Amino acid sequence: MTSDAASARPDPTDEVVDLCRDLLRIDTTNTGDNDTSAGERLAAEYVAEKLAEVGVEPVIHESAPGRANLVARIPGTDPTRGALLVHGHLDVVPADADEWSVHPFSGELRDGYLWGRGAIDMKDFDAMVLAVVRHWQRTGVRPPRDIVLAYTADEEAGSDYGAHFLVQRHRDLLDGCTEAIGEVGGFSYSVSDAQRLYLIETAEKGIDWLRLHARGRPGHGSMVHDDNAVTALAEAVARIGRHRFPVVVTDTVRAFLAEISDLLGVELDPDDPETAIAKLGPIANIIGATIRNTANPTRLAAGYKDNVIPGRATATIDCRSLPGQSELLERQLRELIGPDIAIEYIQRQPALETTFDGDLVDAMSAALRGEDPGARPVPYMLSGGTDAKAFSQLGIRCFGFAPLRLPADLNFSALFHGIDERVPVDGLQFGVRVLDRFLRTC
Ligand SMILES: [Zn+2]
Repeated sequence: MTSDAASARPDPTDEVVDLCRDLLRIDTTNTGDNDTSAGERLAAEYVAEKLAEVGVEPVIHESAPGRANLVARIPGTDPTRGALLVHGHLDVVPADADEWSVHPFSGELRDGYLWGRGAIDMKDFDAMVLAVVRHWQRTGVRPPRDIVLAYTADEEAGSDYGAHFLVQRHRDLLDGCTEAIGEVGGFSYSVSDAQRLYLIETAEKGIDWLRLHARGRPGHGSMVHDDNAVTALAEAVARIGRHRFPVVVTDTVRAFLAEISDLLGVELDPDDPETAIAKLGPIANIIGATIRNTANPTRLAAGYKDNVIPGRATATIDCRSLPGQSELLERQLRELIGPDIAIEYIQRQPALETTFDGDLVDAMSAALRGEDPGARPVPYMLSGGTDAKAFSQLGIRCFGFAPLRLPADLNFSALFHGIDERVPVDGLQFGVRVLDRFLRTC
């Protein structure tokens, strides 16, 4: 091949910036309402066009009008091996332009960052994967095993119109997938100038959203009344909100804490991991939520008139359970709530946990070290949930690995769903190089 031909091809680390910017400019806001969540279709068509340009033919399936999910398969050299699923969601949470320094759907390049809703959650990864695949298709690189790409809708509202829809209705497209990578992991946390932890997600807490229903005797607000649904509900909600569940350190969290206390020289007391966690700075709120079940009251509803005691009152509690603890959490909550208030589950998705070992983990670690000699890959548990919850139902072993090298002073966790969400351009380019190495050796 001549050098002319080589130079005519865009470099994937350049192209990723254009791809990410284009995706950020497509407003894929997920309002949770199908009538106003139409942008996912445009984004899926954009990805489809970029894949088709280099000879990959994807399929798009809509779960409802506009709620588009794209899947494509890139054949590997060894068809006898299980496929690797590489998944990213296309939707984003809403953004209020008045609160931002730039328009949230401008994809503006400023101060070395690409700005926009979705810049780190997760159009950055969507673009990285696209850049690597386009580069491979142009240069004839084939992965060692099949890679299945999935670009999904609706992750930000529970994935019913996205990953769960694919798992339930188009399972055949995911045939043979044994392992998966997606959000939220692979990002760096600087320990010193020379060393960075890269947090690889090997576990996710479960989602246990509850609605409490209290009943009482309706009546006039001016009279003596001892059976008030609002009072009963308020007492239960206050007990839950103030409660601290016992600390339980799982294998993933233990491995993470051991690594970090070693690096920071912090004495780790197994009976009191919170002291070590408090020293982690901006990620303390992520890690702190992974050592116990949590239950946060989020909504209250009761009454229709100022002087009428209503007969019923409801509250929503956002509970997150550690692996294997969902039933225990239900019993703990029942004790706090008492026997008279009914519990209804509005979401119940199990926690996930896999081990931090094997060839795929070795390939992730080697790819990170290949691009950052100061990389220390560590497993961690995500306190939130991702599309991995759906894909793991097919027996797929799921990891959060969307590699990103971040500046030491960037408060990464605050950018998730935050104002002025942005991704460092050099971090995005780092991610492309790591993914390229990783996917060649997966
Ligand atoms: Zn996300």
